[in-house]
Parts: sequence; C-alpha cells; structure tokens
Amino acid sequence: MNLEEVKKISESRDIYLWGARRVGFSTLNSLAKEGVLVKGFLDSSPDIQGTVVRGQPVFPPNEILAKPPADNFIVITSELHVNEISNVCDESGLSHNKDYIAALELQTYDYIVDVSGVCNLKCLSCPRGNRRIHPKPGFMSASHFEKVLTKIVREDPLTGAIALYNLGEPLLNPEFPEIVEICNSKGVLATLSSNINIKKSFVDTIKAKPALFRISASGYGSSYEITHRGGNWNLFLDNMYKLNYWREKYNPEMQVEVFYHLYKDRTEDYQKMAKLCKELNFSLRVCHAALLALDNINSFLEGETLTEEAIKTMELQILSVTEAMSIAKKTQNLPCTVLSSLAITWDSKVMACSCWYDPKLRISDEDFLDIPLEKIVRLRNSCELCKLCRKNGLHRYFNAYLDESLVRKKDSLYKN
Ligand code: SF4
Ligand code: SF4
Repeated sequence: MNLEEVKKISESRDIYLWGARRVGFSTLNSLAKEGVLVKGFLDSSPDIQGTVVRGQPVFPPNEILAKPPADNFIVITSELHVNEISNVCDESGLSHNKDYIAALELQTYDYIVDVSGVCNLKCLSCPRGNRRIHPKPGFMSASHFEKVLTKIVREDPLTGAIALYNLGEPLLNPEFPEIVEICNSKGVLATLSSNINIKKSFVDTIKAKPALFRISASGYGSSYEITHRGGNWNLFLDNMYKLNYWREKYNPEMQVEVFYHLYKDRTEDYQKMAKLCKELNFSLRVCHAALLALDNINSFLEGETLTEEAIKTMELQILSVTEAMSIAKKTQNLPCTVLSSLAITWDSKVMACSCWYDPKLRISDEDFLDIPLEKIVRLRNSCELCKLCRKNGLHRYFNAYLDESLVRKKDSLYKN
C-alpha cells in the first residue's frame, strides 16, 4: 500500500494513528501535508488516553476496534510494538493492507540524528556510564545538520518528524535552538529527549518550538541521583518547573513527556513523580529500567565480565536481563523493529544500529551525505551485527523493557 491508496481510503473511512509518540507525530504531520486528516490517536498507555495530543484526541484502542472495520483505517505508528499491534488488529478481524498498515511501510526509515555526542551525566544503565570505550565527543553544527536534513527529506519525503537524540544530551549543543528551527523551516517536527540536568538556560530551545520534549528520569530526590549518576535532584526539579513555565509562555502546543525508568524499591518515588507530572501537566510514561546497550547484553550472554556500573544496574532492576532475554527468545522469530530506524552520529556517520554503542559499529566510513539511501538500505540489510543479534534474540530485548503492559502485569508499580 502506498500514500495514494491511504489518501483514497481517507475519503470514505476515518483514519486513526496507533501510537501517540514520535512516529505518530511524524505520520500525523506528513499526512496533513498531503491533505489527509486523521480522527485521532489510539494508545495503550492509560496516562494519555482521554487527553489531546497535537490537537488530536487519544482513544483507548478497544474503543475503535469495537466499531465496524469498514468505518475505520488504522496506521500503526508505534516505534517498537508494530508486531504486537498487528496481532491485536488481526485478532480483532482486521486485515493488513485493507484495514491497517504500519506507518513505516510508507517510508524507508524513522530518522535519529544524534546532534550531541556528549552527555553531562553517567547514568548507571547507560553505556555513557557503564562502558569504558566511548565514541569521539563533539556536536553537529547547525549548518551540517541542515545538509543532513535536506538529504533525508529529499530521499525519504514522508519524514514528518525527526529524533534529535540517541545517546547524547542535545541541550548541550550550543546550536540546538537553530537546529530545531531548521527542522521547522523544512516542515519536519523536532523531537528531543533530555535529562534537563543542566545549569544553562534552555529557554531558546523552547522558543524554537520543538514538538515533543521528553525528559528521562528515574527515582525521586536522592534515589534519582543514584541511577541518574552525576545528576542533581534540585537542579532537575527546578528545571521541571522552568520547562513548564516556558512551555506555557512560548510553546503551549509542545508535548512534554517524562520517561520514567522503574527500579526496585521505588514505589513511593514513582507516585511522587506521577503527582509532579500531574501538577505540571506533563504526560508520564513508565518502563522497566533496562541495561543498555546491546554490547553489554551480548557480553553478559557470552559470560564476559561486566563493569561494576552494569552489575549495579542489574542489582537494581525489577525486570532482570535473564527474564527479558527469555521473553525476547520467545519472540525471536519476529522481525526487528529497530531496523526501521536509522541513526546518524554527530559526526555524520551511519550507525549499524542505535541500540549498540561500540564506536566501531558503523555501516561505512563514508559521510551520511555521500551514501545514497539505496546503498544504506543494502548495507544495513546485510549487516553482520544484525545476524549476530537475531541469532541470539537480542533484537527483541528492548521490546520487553518498553512494554508498559508488562509493568502492569508484573504489578511493578506497587510491589517493589
Ligand atoms: S541515559 Fe541519557 S542522560 Fe543518562 S548518561 Fe545516557 S545519554 Fe546521558
Ligand atoms: S537486528 Fe539487532 S543490530 Fe540489527 S537493527 Fe535490530 S537490534 Fe539493531
């Protein structure tokens, strides 16, 4: 199915986007540019059901699945749970290509441009805090970013949003507000994830109007500082209030989402964070804290010694690596959803995968600007790393950690 067919369908059926995050924003934006209006988002996260995101109401999926299929058409805009959502659609009597498709069937990749190759923190679970070898530090300049984005939009015109982060702190890039403005000038929504644990003001970034501002957090008060290692709780809290104030003043449409990594023995902390988010009108997403990156998990499976920070992370986890890998193994036959994203580093190299950290894992030494999209697709589809990953089920590891329904099923918010 292609865009023209979706446009035709939209003349007689209501279009819903399943997944109200980055890919959802991207598809909403690119469909709107083509004159396709959607009826709303579907999302399994109770925290945002019943709210309005980018002007669209968010419905619980069952509410729409209960309606006659001939009335609706679903575009799956989840980043990681495409297979699971497709199964739910099938079980509800919908047919692929007739009643639903995945957004990433309409474009080649979901793009990540890590404009900052530096982070101010050394979180326990993150390779910046738990690996010994790191990529070269630096920032992508706004002028280079403009070239990168021009190429992306030329080669993959349905790109409606872009992630300006992977494993770096974007607000440290001195040209970040300009980078956000460049996105907007090209009709591409800018999304970022930040630890907001920085002393310098980031009001110019808010004024530049990113569409989605994600904040990564774990714990509350002193527990936050254990896992967000190097962070200062009071600075974080102060910046949460500042962000709210600046959003209301300069960019009220901006969606703010706290992405909360859940560790053991922090039930009360989570409840305090939920209260704070409610007060500030930020949405709250929760996941079991994962050990990143896949380099560590591969080492663990191979019986290699992990760093003390990686071991400490595992001690604090609710969902253990062993349990997550056992879930991953059960779905090993499913395709890799990470393959639909393409990560470009601050120094304009194409990573083999956004979930691995070793600086050597690039698909080529060439600059992204010099590699045609067809060649990127070819190189990634024949990547040796993917073969290793699939052989061990590693490609499904993060699906277990980002499964919010598993948090509820394990009762992790209350029992730990
Ligand atoms: S998780 Fe984010 S904030 Fe923490 S060290 Fe990694 S990149 Fe920095
Ligand atoms: S198979 Fe593994 S290396 Fe390849 S894209 Fe998926 S997660 Fe990344």
